Amino acid sequence: MRMTYDEIIKSLKEDPLEELLKRADKIRREYVGEEVHLRGIIEFSNYCVNNCLYCGLRRDNHRLKRYRMKPQEIINLARNLIKQGVKTIVLQSGDDLAYKRDDITEIVKAIKQEGEVAITLSLGERPFSDYETWRQAGADRYLMKHETVNPELYAQLHPGKTFEGRLRHIVFLKELGYEIGVGNIVGLPGQSFEDLAGDILFIKEIEADMAGIGPFIPQENTPLADKPSGSVELTLRVLALVRIVAKTPHLPATTALATLGGEDAQLKALRGGANVIMPNFTPEEFSRNYKIYDGKTKVTFSRAKELIKKAGRKIGQDIGGSLRCRTHPKL
Ligand code: SAH
Repeated sequence: MRMTYDEIIKSLKEDPLEELLKRADKIRREYVGEEVHLRGIIEFSNYCVNNCLYCGLRRDNHRLKRYRMKPQEIINLARNLIKQGVKTIVLQSGDDLAYKRDDITEIVKAIKQEGEVAITLSLGERPFSDYETWRQAGADRYLMKHETVNPELYAQLHPGKTFEGRLRHIVFLKELGYEIGVGNIVGLPGQSFEDLAGDILFIKEIEADMAGIGPFIPQENTPLADKPSGSVELTLRVLALVRIVAKTPHLPATTALATLGGEDAQLKALRGGANVIMPNFTPEEFSRNYKIYDGKTKVTFSRAKELIKKAGRKIGQDIGGSLRCRTHPKL
């Protein structure tokens, strides 16, 4: 069954939460199975050239203690993750141009030599030739959330940037053969139900391999410090509808959801469409300063494994690649 834009809006506003979660759970079982994939994230730098209004890493936040991990530190940590059985490593940072194209290339190559592991890069917007080089070096996936499909809201929240520009990066990454991760923030100041329905359809239409969906959480040293957080329930509704509408993308029970709603919210996410958890492996001395928002929970490897057990699911045993291309009788 296809859902129209108007039906999605109505469903977002009116359907009982439990019913939505159940429908999403059924589709998740049918299209993506029982495995929950663990993606180990390393937040290697909190420097950023951008000034996004919601994000604590924004360049005008002079209160933040900045850090950069050295390439060798990143590689050693990644080796350690692989030894612990992690099959996907996500390298994330602010938009930090101090790491040159070749620095990232060397990191990607060194990690790929360590074993059967997928690498997701999440470094923000870079020159297109960088993406190409890293893809050739072995990077498998790129996570670049679209944040919101509302172009006015996008421009307002990302000074000097446009939604159209973001989209060009995402499309180019896809053309290079990366599996792409997109995703939106739920409960941004000024965001409407119409915007969220647009986000849900966008994830389907761009044929995303993954989508990260989390609530807005204010950070005290940003212009949005006094705005209210997004709602856990609305985030769960959006997540469930993405599963119902787009079917196959990998959908994490996000850290932002855990930060606002605790383990309960992450469990609900797993029971309402989610099939991924992203445990954090950033060393504590650094991670305490990766303050994209306040109160950020640390989802550890052991906590992630516990959650999967509690949800009655299985831990993914392989790299957990895109499910989008698999021929599925129902697609
Ligand atoms: N520089 C990279 C990574 C950004 S941080 C990039 O631009 O892609 C990763 C994600 O954190 C962002 O994509 C955004 O969706 C999320 N984020 C940042 N600040 C947030 C906040 N205050 N509340 C909720 N999510 C936030």
